[in-house]
Amino acid sequence: MTFNHSSNRIKITLTNPAKENETITFEINYSGIPQDGLIIGKNKFGDRGFFGDTFIIIAPLHYSVVANGIKVEESFLDANRKLTHWHEEVPIPVKVMVAGIARFAVQYVGKVDDIPIESWVYPQNRAEGFYDYAVAIKILDYFHHHIGPYSYKKLANVQSKTRWGGLENANTIFYFENSVTGKGDHESLITHEEAHQWFGNSATENDWHHAWLSEGFATYFTSLYLEYAYGHDRLVEEEKKDRQEIIQFYKKNQAPIVDTTIMDINKVLSTNTYQKAGWVLHMLRHEVGDVDFWKGIRTYYATYQNSNAMTSDFKRIMEEASGKDLSLFFHQWLYTGGHPNLSGSWSYNAKLKEVTIDVKQVQKGAFFNSHCK
Ligand SMILES: [Zn+2]
Repeated sequence: MTFNHSSNRIKITLTNPAKENETITFEINYSGIPQDGLIIGKNKFGDRGFFGDTFIIIAPLHYSVVANGIKVEESFLDANRKLTHWHEEVPIPVKVMVAGIARFAVQYVGKVDDIPIESWVYPQNRAEGFYDYAVAIKILDYFHHHIGPYSYKKLANVQSKTRWGGLENANTIFYFENSVTGKGDHESLITHEEAHQWFGNSATENDWHHAWLSEGFATYFTSLYLEYAYGHDRLVEEEKKDRQEIIQFYKKNQAPIVDTTIMDINKVLSTNTYQKAGWVLHMLRHEVGDVDFWKGIRTYYATYQNSNAMTSDFKRIMEEASGKDLSLFFHQWLYTGGHPNLSGSWSYNAKLKEVTIDVKQVQKGAFFNSHCK
């Protein structure tokens, strides 16, 4: 066996060709000095903080330390330093491992079943941050009781220096500094990152090309929570907004949602994997009906909780839940680019008292079927 490592990809050439259905296990040992990942610097109040991916942290006493999992040790080492150990017992993807070290004000908001919900904010933003992040308990309660049991032992919502608006780190979500306003402006963002605790962190895609299983789910389950919290009109509003973005995006990119031609993983996140994939779930709910949709979603989560799935796994489970063949649905919405463009006319025959309605699909690309068998 030989291998070649270039452009962040490992190509392995087997000594003998693999047999059909043969499973081959490789152990890959690697090491290196990360060029990026630990953000050290001053926050907007001029206080120093560290945000990165470690779990046993020795820090000066005036810092609080938060990371994935539960706190199993906090020891004062001497007059100046403290050791904090956070331990995560559930398998989580590397992309959502994290630690935050800063001066924090911490509020224990409450519990859903036995899961504590905490807000970690800059002390200067204590009142506003506690107010803004407290909504997390209602959101967790909704997902926990609609999708399936939350996978972790706590949920911390953390004001931080992150380059993103929010980062769904497992049970330790980071939000951008100005997410705290004291006016509850970022409920949608908090909901999106919390939805990722189920889809993206716990049941997560096995391959970047299937990232819609994270982002499309987080997008649509945010809309579902907003519908639950504010009524059906809010869902309609969200879907309309997303549809506009999908139509605009298609003008510059005609690729399908599962686009296996993408080689640069930074290009995986797009309107396709967020908004359009969210719409696919919305249409799927319509296609199979509310009861079977939720049955399928719960089964999918229960089957792939703390594990990995592909689009074909989700399809199989939705087919079992609904008793429908969804091959055409998945093919045309996930593996084919574009959407129907409709043109219509109608006429009235006074003699027969009949209205004739004529609707045509006029898009350049593939033809879309409206119903599956
Ligand atoms: Zn997301």
